[in-house]
Amino acid sequence: MRVPFLNLKKQHDPLMPEIRAAFEKVVETSAFAGGPFVAAFEQDFAKFCGAKFAVGVGNGTDALWFALLGLGIGPGDEVITVPSTFIATAEAISYCGARPVFVDVDEQTYTMDPVLLENAITPRTKAIIPVHLFGQTADMDPILEIAKAHKLPVIEDACQAHGATYKGRPAGSMGIAGAFSFYPGKNLGAMGEAGGTVTNDADLAAKMRMFRDHGQVKKYYHDAVGWNGRMDGLQGAILQIKLRGLAVGNELRRAHAAQYDKAFAGCDEIATPFAAKHNTHVYHVYAVRVRERDKILAAMTEAGIGCGIHYPVPLHLQTAYKDLGYTEGSFPVSERTAKEFLSLPMFPELTKEQIQLVVDELKTACGVATKAQTALAMS
Ligand SMILES: *Cc1c(COP(=O)(O)O)cnc(C)c1O
Repeated sequence: MRVPFLNLKKQHDPLMPEIRAAFEKVVETSAFAGGPFVAAFEQDFAKFCGAKFAVGVGNGTDALWFALLGLGIGPGDEVITVPSTFIATAEAISYCGARPVFVDVDEQTYTMDPVLLENAITPRTKAIIPVHLFGQTADMDPILEIAKAHKLPVIEDACQAHGATYKGRPAGSMGIAGAFSFYPGKNLGAMGEAGGTVTNDADLAAKMRMFRDHGQVKKYYHDAVGWNGRMDGLQGAILQIKLRGLAVGNELRRAHAAQYDKAFAGCDEIATPFAAKHNTHVYHVYAVRVRERDKILAAMTEAGIGCGIHYPVPLHLQTAYKDLGYTEGSFPVSERTAKEFLSLPMFPELTKEQIQLVVDELKTACGVATKAQTALAMS
């Protein structure tokens, strides 16, 4: 592979002395399931997000699920989200016994289209989950306004948006809760599975703490049927170290995105991501849109460039959700983008030379003459 899609080893190597020391400290105290290392990370992460509380859990799916459970979402309820996301957003709704209801995304930002939201609200609607896809927040002001008018809580799926901002407000801090994934490949990633939810609501934080720990309020006294959803102590200790590098990592991603944007400017064949002026996009994924995507993906793979597709099938067309009754044509923007999205290598440790290689190969695959080729043809 000439340019990998992601290289976590490069991210971890310089941190290993610190991470090894943290590992020994956790082993020394045997605080493996929840405990003080998780609590210390929770404090730091809440502060980073501008929120009062963070609740560390097993993964991002738990983070969404416990927030919904904490809000009392259950059978017979509807929760509105988008079809252009990872399936976990909808799974969390389904595992409350509620029904996911989709609204399409905006063609520019690929996040929930606020114009379509109002129409999807019914008397059964109990919450709204906008997804900050690829590292850019949804258009939160109109979404929060509609939610307020209908007295509905908003949970941000911020699993791809650690450190992103909307009009200066951090992702995760705008709704009643913000759910994060610390899956290894995310902008802030553990060395295993982890997740967390931030909130300013003390009651909701207490409920999420209860649900992640078998519904316990006191050891072996269970007020609700909960789940084993605690964060590992080791992951808490590692995440506390890695959090210190998140802002720098995000800045590097933004610089890489700017290099890609500039290189593809003026290429009609390659549509680059749009970042709204009031947003700080943190480019968890740098997705371009191309025609004949599958052919181009094959050419990139052949050329040794690691690319991805996020995501090939929108949720309403997944077999798992065929019972919801949606069909092809229900959400045209999500369907169109699913056919055109191509995610290019994006991680902080990428070099300028690697990015140039990706640029050249993508231009070649799309039939755009590169500078070198034009010079050669003219000589
Ligand atoms: C990663 C992700 C999740 C789920 O997180 P896990 O830690 O994998 O459970 C949820 N929503 C979105 C948008 C994600 O990208």
